[in-house]
Amino acid sequence: MRDFTLAVVGAGASGLMAACRAAKALGPGRVALLDGNQKPGKKLLATGNGRCNLTNLHIDPARYHGDAALAAPLFSAYPTDLILEEFASLGLLTRADAEGRVYPRSLQAASVLQALWGACEERGVSFFADSPVARIVPRRGDFLLEGREPIQAQKCVLACGGKASPKHSCDGNGYALAKSLGHTVTPLRPGLVPLACPKKLTSPLKGMRTKARASLWERGRELAAGSGEIIFGEGTLSGIVLFDLSLHLRGPGEVVLDLAEEMSQKELFDYLCQLQTRRPALPVREIFSGLVNLRIGQQRAKALGFIGDAPISALRSADLRRAAEGLKQWRLPVEPSQNWDAAQITIGGVPLSEVDINTMASKRQKGLYLTGELLNIHGDCGGYNLHWAWATGIAAGRSASE
Ligand SMILES: Cc1cc2nc3c(=O)[nH]c(=O)nc-3n(C[C@H](O)[C@H](O)[C@H](O)COP(=O)(O)OP(=O)(O)OC[C@H]3O[C@@H](n4cnc5c(N)ncnc54)[C@H](O)[C@@H]3O)c2cc1C
Repeated sequence: MRDFTLAVVGAGASGLMAACRAAKALGPGRVALLDGNQKPGKKLLATGNGRCNLTNLHIDPARYHGDAALAAPLFSAYPTDLILEEFASLGLLTRADAEGRVYPRSLQAASVLQALWGACEERGVSFFADSPVARIVPRRGDFLLEGREPIQAQKCVLACGGKASPKHSCDGNGYALAKSLGHTVTPLRPGLVPLACPKKLTSPLKGMRTKARASLWERGRELAAGSGEIIFGEGTLSGIVLFDLSLHLRGPGEVVLDLAEEMSQKELFDYLCQLQTRRPALPVREIFSGLVNLRIGQQRAKALGFIGDAPISALRSADLRRAAEGLKQWRLPVEPSQNWDAAQITIGGVPLSEVDINTMASKRQKGLYLTGELLNIHGDCGGYNLHWAWATGIAAGRSASE
């Protein structure tokens, strides 16, 4: 049986970082990294549409949910600068966009994986491919990891990720492993998912994109809001802003889209009055054509009863008021998606109260560390989730190698 100082279960974002950090301190041949997949970092390659939005310049506990209140010390210890320095030390340079989202300078997720995995290889990490760990048995002073090949290690980092996007990770049974080692797991649901919306409303606009302010309502209460691109799909609404809103929705709700957010309703009404004077012969179905995406505008006009070739000069003031309201308050019924395949993250996991937030050491099992998505904390879209993975990976790798 092979014997290691540290075994890291899961070669995803946090596991690669933990192994890389630990091997730097422990030296070659002391760290084992196991994954159920053939190669490390399969999900990492898919992040940010293949570009990997690896952190954000504006890391703030307010952008996290779940047990976020308990995570503040870790965010203070591992701010964006420190994560970027860590990557720079691995030879990876980065760039940020106007919203503070940080990407590798190459805009290729493969560069991030190369930096981490290349360093793991150079530091003598032993990688066990195609090795899903089925059971971890704590023994006196070490762990026995049962899988394709049994391994023993004095310490163990559980970096198995969550349930989201199963095609990118081996059947993540990390929650079961955590439970078998004395931890609890809060209820799990898919996060950062498209919202489900009746097909009859979205299908005519399939593939269309528009900028809008979106607010999410449930039983007459506004849950959250934001601005960004809305993408219409076959029975879905997606885009970064809606992914973020999906984190707040638990039952049936309503998304209200404002397709002219830079204008007040009064300003929009005034514009439509002017349009009536400037283009009196414009067919009513084209009333929004100068304002928004053509097809979306025509669909909206149709839904509001502005159908056919009648000229807009025939509309009354009340009609124009209704048109302005219809463009600024487009109400669409939505439901949370239960689709793990389409989810980017898992909501729920092992409570942060069960780990030491400075080291990620388990409070339930000596020698065990937990990282990444396995824990009950999740961030908005924008590099926040990978930031959490890197920060927990460094903290665990560091303390497990001391
Ligand atoms: C399509 C997509 C795009 C995303 N884009 C971004 C983005 O741009 N920015 C961002 O911040 N976040 C993004 N995320 C979220 C981000 O990828 C995750 O939050 C992050 O990868 C979690 O890191 P982790 O180490 O906890 O788990 P993972 O990266 O999922 O790694 C877990 C690893 O453990 C392995 N494993 C599981 N169980 C076992 C076992 N029993 N034995 C051995 N191995 C096991 C899995 O095969 C996997 O390789 C995206 C997610 C998806 C699905």
